[in-house]
Amino acid sequence: MKKHLIFVGEKRSPRAIQLGVRWQDEALAAKPLFAALWACGIEPTDCTFVNWFDERSHNAIRIAASLGACVFAMGQKVQYALSEAKIPFTPLVHPAVRGRIRKRERYIAYVQGQLLLAKARFLCSLEHPMQADASGRWEHDDMEEIGDQEDGWPSGDTVTMRCRCCGKTWSLDAPLAASGS
Ligand SMILES: [Zn+2]
Repeated sequence: MKKHLIFVGEKRSPRAIQLGVRWQDEALAAKPLFAALWACGIEPTDCTFVNWFDERSHNAIRIAASLGACVFAMGQKVQYALSEAKIPFTPLVHPAVRGRIRKRERYIAYVQGQLLLAKARFLCSLEHPMQADASGRWEHDDMEEIGDQEDGWPSGDTVTMRCRCCGKTWSLDAPLAASGS
């Protein structure tokens, strides 16, 4: 379950309804947002996109937020509504907004800043490995064990794991039940 990032929009635009597209289709307003997420090492398919106008979403958003999901409110109307509903959120300028922030690099930098503000977790992947100077919380899913005898003890208490994507290593306490099948 990696649906820890929830982006709440207001409602489907008339244009989106006309075209029959939704957030997940990466069309219209979603394009700059998806580009920003990819640049931050986040797969849009790991995120949830909902519209506040769809009242069925309210309870799901509330529950997810109470379970620690990061909720991003896109646009002032949604930010106001979530405040009213007492759901904690991080504000996000709607990707369709006019003006200077719409410039691609600027919007990507802005979204990354808001993700850090929300303490969102970034996913380290081959396409977007964690950089050495990266900040924020990163998840490393593709780990390999690179041996547990670096300290010279044949059955040491720790195992060393390495992320196949970024090369970072960790020493972990060896789980007792890890051997055998
Ligand atoms: Zn990594």
